[in-house]
Amino acid sequence: MSIKEKAVIINKLEDARAALEEAIENSTKILAFTGAGISTESGVPDFRSKDSPWVRYKPIEFDLFMRDILMREEAWRRKFALDDIYASAKPGRGHYALANLVQQGKIIAIVTQNIDNLHQDSGVPDEKIIELHGNGTYALCLSCGLRHELLPIRAEFEASGAAPACKACGGPVKSATISFGQTMPEVAMRRAQNAVADCDLFLAIGSSLVVYPAAAFPLAAQQYGAKLIILNGEETPLDNSADIVLRGDIGDILLPFAA
Ligand SMILES: [Zn+2]
Repeated sequence: MSIKEKAVIINKLEDARAALEEAIENSTKILAFTGAGISTESGVPDFRSKDSPWVRYKPIEFDLFMRDILMREEAWRRKFALDDIYASAKPGRGHYALANLVQQGKIIAIVTQNIDNLHQDSGVPDEKIIELHGNGTYALCLSCGLRHELLPIRAEFEASGAAPACKACGGPVKSATISFGQTMPEVAMRRAQNAVADCDLFLAIGSSLVVYPAAAFPLAAQQYGAKLIILNGEETPLDNSADIVLRGDIGDILLPFAA
């Protein structure tokens, strides 16, 4: 049995900021991996929390969406109900910090589990953002891939009650998110794997690092030689593998990097 050194766990705000500043200074190719925790201060509740609207408006599994027209309509009803809750969400301190580091050329990619478009809203160009679970601010035809905007879809849905069909091919149109039971997006996964192999610092922010691929990417990056820093409000199962764990409020810790 090998003896593993324990990660350094930093709870004090000033120390966390100092450690992060040093790590960022010593890195040239940072991969920022973000989860729900970076968006909670923006008013997007973590879908894992028990009072989350996701419990009330439980997402419909992909299978059901595809084969049951009534469930497809229900999926759209829930989607629009959730959209109303998140409508006022704006990027937070963490988003702006990462946008700033992208602009400085420090961050090679932001790989996100979030679907809220807040990295884009904070000014990060699309080519730096890799969305593992898609994006909830537009829709796609599942047959031909044509992009559809939500506003006209919603107007038609509210008028007719019928789930939207593609205006080009008539195929089923779905929110551009990855539903439970839907395969991971191939292009995004490939881009993420390349960034994992390429980065010299893997900075995991606000992710519980439980589900695949969130649980696998940090360790893979380490095997390629990157440092691993985990910034999160709570413990994660990978804390013991990290080089440094920063435990605290994500916005507070990242605030100085937004300037
Ligand atoms: Zn189509």
